[in-house]
Amino acid sequence: MGGRQNGRWWTKLHWQILAGMLLAIPVGLLGGPGTAGALGWLGDVFLRLLKMVVVPLIFFSIVTGVTSIGSLRGVGRIGWKTAAYYLLTSAAAICVGLLMANLVHPGHAGIISTAAVPEQLGRVSPSLGGVLLRLIPENPIEDMIYANDDPRQGPNVLGVIFFAVLLGAAVLALDSERRRRLAGAFESLFAAMMKLTGWVIRLAPLGVFALLAGVVGETGFASFGALGWYLLTVLLALLVHALLTLPLICRLVAGRSPWRLARALGPALATAFSTASSNATLPLTMDCSERRAGISNRVSSFVLPLGATINMDGTALYECVAVLFIAQCYGVELGMGQQLVVMLTALLASIGAAGIPHAGLVMMSIVLGAVGLPLEGIGMILAVDRILDMCRTTVNVWSDSVGAASVARLQGEGTAFPGDRDFGAAGSKP
Ligand code: ASP
Repeated sequence: MGGRQNGRWWTKLHWQILAGMLLAIPVGLLGGPGTAGALGWLGDVFLRLLKMVVVPLIFFSIVTGVTSIGSLRGVGRIGWKTAAYYLLTSAAAICVGLLMANLVHPGHAGIISTAAVPEQLGRVSPSLGGVLLRLIPENPIEDMIYANDDPRQGPNVLGVIFFAVLLGAAVLALDSERRRRLAGAFESLFAAMMKLTGWVIRLAPLGVFALLAGVVGETGFASFGALGWYLLTVLLALLVHALLTLPLICRLVAGRSPWRLARALGPALATAFSTASSNATLPLTMDCSERRAGISNRVSSFVLPLGATINMDGTALYECVAVLFIAQCYGVELGMGQQLVVMLTALLASIGAAGIPHAGLVMMSIVLGAVGLPLEGIGMILAVDRILDMCRTTVNVWSDSVGAASVARLQGEGTAFPGDRDFGAAGSKP
């Protein structure tokens, strides 16, 4: 679906995406700020197509994910394994972030910028209670359209997931004839959505090229100077999490080679980087994990849509470093107790953040508020947020993928990749 497995190398999706990314750098640098205007339409077409499929894909995949588990007890079993993975990896990411921020102390330069607070912060002002309440949709159809009565924020995916899990559970609780018919109908709708998704994915190389060229053209490299230490601290912490913690889990829990899994997920990781949106990347994440990594549909259709919405290791880590950096810039040293508050609120903020660009920045007001720091602090880090967003989103998607592989193993699936001789021997066939 996402790329031919045979044939010449340039017909393969991951090479095409890589070529698009490489080409975007000179085009963006030569085109300057005008690049986004000239190529923006192409990126927009790709993003709109991805957004078009994402809500029905999440909805049908979760309902099918729940019904294919077969029993409410089974849903509970996979549910707690998934939740444990999400919580543990996010906590590990937060610890790495805090450690790095305390070691590097990026705010020592004391940058206080006058940049304005993003407009949407004033509008949304998320609260902890609000994040939890958003779980329960007042009207599920409305949640599929927009969150917080604001069309600009996209759908309330958390509410859609909550409704889909309950609907799937209700289907499982029906008498066997109704259950069989309804589960079959949802399965077929999900299969149709995956087919449609495959068509959209073919456009990924062009979309990735246009989006990235626009970012390079607009940002260049100049604005990174003043915030160098901050940028470096977040990137270093993200690298530790992506290249040490997650591969270790991949090896020990999922029983797979992290390198091979990353290669299988390549197109999804590249799309996460260029779109800065886990939700928009979800169609590719599901396609790659099923077809290229051989993780069963039963596991990936449950774990990945949930992960794209609530499992954001990169975002949680970034929230911690950013808040400590802002505190340091204001000359405030946060004590152990306050850093603990940062840890907990960063975890909740990452769960509540939507999988869309800059959602982490918006949610940061929760963490800043919890330790009494002014919202204006966000203005300091705006200049480099896009590039960090691209990197943290890639880590978010990488963590979701390792999560799907880990839960698959814990559910007793095999660990082989398609093409391996033993693939399909221990139920690893999707
Ligand atoms: N852009 C991130 C994502 O979609 C969320 C964030 O802003 O941290 O995963």
